[in-house]
Amino acid sequence: MNDYYQELGVSRDASPEDIKRAYRKKARTLHPDVNPSPEAEEQFKKVSQAYDVLGDPEKRRAYDMGADPYAAGAAGFGQGFSFSDIMDAFFGGGAGGPQRGPRSRQRRGQDALVRLDIDLADAVFGAEKELVIETAVVCSTCHGDGAQPGTSRRTCDVCGGRGEIQQVQRSFLGQVMTTRPCMTCQGYGEVLVSPCFECSGDGRVRTRRTLKIKVPAGVDTGTRIQLGGEGEVGQGGGPAGDLYVEINVRSHGTFQRRGDDLHCTVELPMTAAALGTTLKLDTFDGSQELEIRPGTQAGDAMTLRGLGVTHLRGTGRGDLVIHANVVTPTRLDDQQEELLRQLATLRGEERPEGHLAPANHGLLGKLRDALKAK
Ligand SMILES: [Zn+2]
Ligand SMILES: [Zn+2]
Repeated sequence: MNDYYQELGVSRDASPEDIKRAYRKKARTLHPDVNPSPEAEEQFKKVSQAYDVLGDPEKRRAYDMGADPYAAGAAGFGQGFSFSDIMDAFFGGGAGGPQRGPRSRQRRGQDALVRLDIDLADAVFGAEKELVIETAVVCSTCHGDGAQPGTSRRTCDVCGGRGEIQQVQRSFLGQVMTTRPCMTCQGYGEVLVSPCFECSGDGRVRTRRTLKIKVPAGVDTGTRIQLGGEGEVGQGGGPAGDLYVEINVRSHGTFQRRGDDLHCTVELPMTAAALGTTLKLDTFDGSQELEIRPGTQAGDAMTLRGLGVTHLRGTGRGDLVIHANVVTPTRLDDQQEELLRQLATLRGEERPEGHLAPANHGLLGKLRDALKAK
C-alpha cells in the first residue's frame, strides 16, 4: 500500500487546506512544464496520485480504512484522477478556470504604506500632519492611455487580438490543451504603435507630493489610517489604490502610555511624603495640582481622572496615573541628623526590628496592583 501522507509530507490529521497546500508546493517544482527530468515526472505522478486520494474526502476515508486505488492490482475507483482537479489545485482556480479573452490594460493601482512618526502629545489630542509621499500618478502626457498622443494601437498579429495563445501538449496524461497569455502583446490583444514618451506606455509616472492628513486622537503605534484612492494610480489609467499611514508614536521622556492611560513617576522628599503637601505637575493639559496625602508610601499611585489619552473609539479620555517615589535624604548636616535621631527616638525606631513584609504587600505588591488595575 502506498503511503500518500508521506508522499505529500503531511500528517495523518492534516486538514484539506494543508493537503492542498502541500500538493501545490510540490507540484510547483515537479510539474513537467517546470521540471522536464524523468525522475520529476515520476515523482509528480506519485504526488498527484497522493493528492487525488487525500484531496477527495470520500477517497481519503476509504484509504484511511485500508483501500488504495493505486495499489498494484486495485480495481474500480474510477480511472484515477481527473486533470481538472489537479489544475484547480495547481492554479488555485475554482469553477470556470481562467478568464478568457484579452485582458484590460487598466489595472487597479497598488495600495501604498508609509510610516508616520508622531509625538505622544499628538496621540493624546490628535494632530494635523504633512506627509511627503512618492507614488505613481496618472501620466499627464497620455492621460493614462499609454499611447503617445496622436498615435494609435493595432491588433496583435501573433494572437489575433485574443491576448492568449492555445497550445495542445502531449503529456503522460494524454493530450492537454493549455492556454497562456500572448508574449507579444502581454495579453492585451493589441500593441501600442508608439508608446508614450513620458511614461513608456505605462500610463503613469512617479512623483512626489505632499499630503495633509488628520491624525485622530487616540492613535497608537501600529494604528493604520486608510486614505482611499491616495495610493498608487493604476496601470493604463486604472483606479488608484489606497494609502495606509502607519503610526509610530515616539517614546516620551516622562510619560508612558498603557492603553489609554498615561503613567509617570513623581519624586517626593521623605518629609513631604510623611506630612502631605500639594504639588504642581506639568502635564499635557498644562500645570495641574496634585494632592499628596500625609503618609504617602513609595509606590502609591495617584490618579488624575481624564488627563490620559483620548479614546480612539467612543468619547472621553484615559487617566493620568502618578506613581510616588519617596526620596530618602542624603548628606545630612549635623542639625538635620540630630533632628532625625530625635524623631527616631520619639517613635521608638532607634533599633527597628527587621520586619519582613508579606509578599503581596510592600513596594513590589503595590507596583503589581497598580499595573493590574490598569
Ligand atoms: Zn504617458
Ligand atoms: Zn498578442
